[in-house]
Amino acid sequence: MPLDSTTLRSMTAAAAQRVIENADELTLLDQAVGDGDHGINMKRGCAEVLSQLDGISAKPTGEALKAVGMALVMKVGGASGPLYGSLLMAMGKAIGDQPATFALLPEAFAAGVEAVAARGKSTEGEKTMLDVLGPALRVLRAGGPDLGARLRETASSAATATIPMLATKGRASYLGERSIGHMDPGARSSQIIIEALSHFLEELT
Ligand code: ADP
Ligand code: MG
Repeated sequence: MPLDSTTLRSMTAAAAQRVIENADELTLLDQAVGDGDHGINMKRGCAEVLSQLDGISAKPTGEALKAVGMALVMKVGGASGPLYGSLLMAMGKAIGDQPATFALLPEAFAAGVEAVAARGKSTEGEKTMLDVLGPALRVLRAGGPDLGARLRETASSAATATIPMLATKGRASYLGERSIGHMDPGARSSQIIIEALSHFLEELT
């Protein structure tokens, strides 16, 4: 199934809008285990993506994903900006100049998740966005029926599963044992993005 530029534009816009709508919650989560800026950071980056949407969606898919990644690197800041930026830029690189299809998504997303782990020097189980991205990747790779609904469920339970985790990467790790008992803000923002995108996958599969 091809991924046309109108669908990609709608997907990008939906994800950015959902993050902006939930920015206050992300800020609250980051107040508990970090410095309280994750909501503001993500809102600023997503507003930039929305403002560049015409230019971004005029590009071929690989270039468009790289442009979203660049906008995030430039505007989000903090630890999460370069991490989300790496995710999108690696996805764009993986797609390259191939015409985008749904079938390309799992391997492109795999390259993106790998780039986050490399940039963050992190792995699953450290109470970060990777604890949502990793499980979501496995569902996407496995494919099958009801993919959108299963992605939503997985992302939701994976974000919840960060609550009892001990943070060993990023600012939350400074809290040591006190990081336990709070959801990781980046895990929640990843969940929000995956949830927004999952509705489109239902139509694409
Ligand atoms: P900062 O921590 O610099 O204030 P943000 O608050 O915007 O940046 O983002 C924090 C989120 O970034 C964390 O909740 C976590 O999910 C993610 N994060 C931080 N460091 C890493 C890392 N090394 N690997 C993966 N994710 C990380
Ligand atoms: Mg922060």
